Amino acid sequence: MSTRLGGEFCLVCGADPPLFGDRMCEPCLRARTVLAKVPENVPWVRCARCGIVEIDGKWENTTEDEVWDELLHRNLVVHERAEDIQLGMEPVKVSDRHTLLHIQLEGVIDDLLFQEEHTMRARMANGVCLTCTRRAGNYFEATVQLRSSARRLSEDEFKRLRATLDDVLEKLSDDPMFFITTEGPVTGGYDVVLGSKGLARAWGRHLISEYGGMVIETNSTVGRKDGVDVTRLTLLYRKPGYEIGDVVQWRHHMWRPSAWTKEGAIMERIDRRERTGASWRDLEQAKVLAQRHEFIEVDFINEDATAGEFLDPNTWEMSLVRLPFEHIPGRKGLLIRQDEEWIALPHMAIDTPEQVED
Ligand SMILES: [Zn+2]
Ligand SMILES: [Zn+2]
Repeated sequence: MSTRLGGEFCLVCGADPPLFGDRMCEPCLRARTVLAKVPENVPWVRCARCGIVEIDGKWENTTEDEVWDELLHRNLVVHERAEDIQLGMEPVKVSDRHTLLHIQLEGVIDDLLFQEEHTMRARMANGVCLTCTRRAGNYFEATVQLRSSARRLSEDEFKRLRATLDDVLEKLSDDPMFFITTEGPVTGGYDVVLGSKGLARAWGRHLISEYGGMVIETNSTVGRKDGVDVTRLTLLYRKPGYEIGDVVQWRHHMWRPSAWTKEGAIMERIDRRERTGASWRDLEQAKVLAQRHEFIEVDFINEDATAGEFLDPNTWEMSLVRLPFEHIPGRKGLLIRQDEEWIALPHMAIDTPEQVED
């Protein structure tokens, strides 16, 4: 023990300087200081049904490594004067529920370097997330009905339409209500029942921007809860059954859509030079007579100003067809068969393979 007066000395053991922090010598400071404190056990919750993790009261889709980081940062209490902290962590799984997190830590307190190792046991508990709770209760807010106009779609076409929901889900945020309650084919279409009206509407907008057509929304009140009406949304989407270039029956004539517009399509008449814009609503009455892949291409063997002769590819007999109004002599014919008769189509840009410029 030092009895010197006036000079500096360790407040604990009386040792001579150098002194650090609260006027202690290095051994005394080290004996009384820890760089960090960690709890022995830390709980975390994972949804037993879907595997997402609860972090700070929020359910999130995350990896185990992110869980360990999160647990570390939430539970590690570092000395308030510590600087230049370096952290390393190694998770070691001991069982399905238990993982030991070995932590190496260094940092500087009052110019002294501290190096410590700690172990924290992460203990997983099973829970059920909000989404799974709602799903288990068959909760739903909206039904999207996929249908078509002008032509019945094939099962494959409905599958492709349905697949766009996955794209929409991927792009949207991790809203716990963005889930599918049930789905399946119905007569003439496909129904998808969803946990969220917002998701239904987002999908509806996506379908319109990808395939045109329109959406009809119906809201119905199904009850009251906590003084508020509980409503369900039904969203009917009709995909136009025609593509650019197909032949459709519309307003008692045959037309071919030549381009999409914001609200519908540009329609070109087949029997004369006429072009008009039509809205999706106008086109609800349209009916597909032939899709482009059903067209038959022929060479005319003989032709005059109004008619062309060709070999019927089905019977190999000479047949006659009225030439389209804009026919150029020598050009191939693009035919469809309608009511036992051949019809030659006027050509559109889409019928001519693109010229490659050199
Ligand atoms: Zn001391
Ligand atoms: Zn879940």
